Amino acid sequence: MGAPRDDILFVQHGPPTLAEMSGAEVRQRLETTKTVLIPVGATEDHGPHLPLGTDSMEAREICRRTAQRLESRGCPIMIAPVVPFGTSSFHMDFAGTISISSTTLIALLSEIAGSLYKGGFRNFVFVHGHDGNLSSMMVAAQEIVDATPDAQAVVCNWLAALSAVYHTIQTSTKGEGHGGEGETSRLLVTHPELVHPELAEPHHIDPAVMARIQGPEHIKAGGGIYYGTRSYRDVTPYGHIGDPTIASPETGEKGYDVIVEWLSKVIQRDFFAKDSASNADS
Ligand SMILES: [Zn+2]
Repeated sequence: MGAPRDDILFVQHGPPTLAEMSGAEVRQRLETTKTVLIPVGATEDHGPHLPLGTDSMEAREICRRTAQRLESRGCPIMIAPVVPFGTSSFHMDFAGTISISSTTLIALLSEIAGSLYKGGFRNFVFVHGHDGNLSSMMVAAQEIVDATPDAQAVVCNWLAALSAVYHTIQTSTKGEGHGGEGETSRLLVTHPELVHPELAEPHHIDPAVMARIQGPEHIKAGGGIYYGTRSYRDVTPYGHIGDPTIASPETGEKGYDVIVEWLSKVIQRDFFAKDSASNADS
């Protein structure tokens, strides 16, 4: 046993989420925007080379970069604190994973949006870091719209946009999935101190099985089919799928750029376009 760690684990760049802003700062910001991004992450195993909070860190980073990009285009937004738990039932065979039920997640997201609504927010953008949360996010989005006369809510599944061009971004010619080249590359951009590709084994799975987990037919990748997922332990003894050893920050930057540009365009169109039917912020 060494001495208790007291080192700097990682550095977080702004813009801040609501958790790092004062109430006065939020109220002042509400005069220029009523749109809030809600990052929805997870605490789940990603293989021996990535932290359990990988999905939460990605969700926050996507929101952070999107806020910056939209601000530069004259479209101010705010960011809610990242929700660190999600529905991760199929990672429960790996220690440290925390999974909450879909009903708990729906209630949590619905109440987060409801609280923010009472404070004056009107446009809610749910952004996932873990695609297992998407169905609950959609229900919560509908609930906040049903519960109020004027809230708008949208769930943005950036994975579909990324999947369409991913073959041009990844260097691997094999299937890269959970904790693989892409996700490890994105973490290398923001949290290099927490990433250890040298501890990981490349692990590719049967392409037919891979297709059911995240192939183009899968609803999360933009297709029309959803397969329930049994334990990841059945397909990977390590917890990840793909080759993290070839991950790089350059690949991560390319991935973030696709995600953030797509998300920014959706938000700009839906909440800031001059001819939008809705828009509180325009
Ligand atoms: Zn992940």
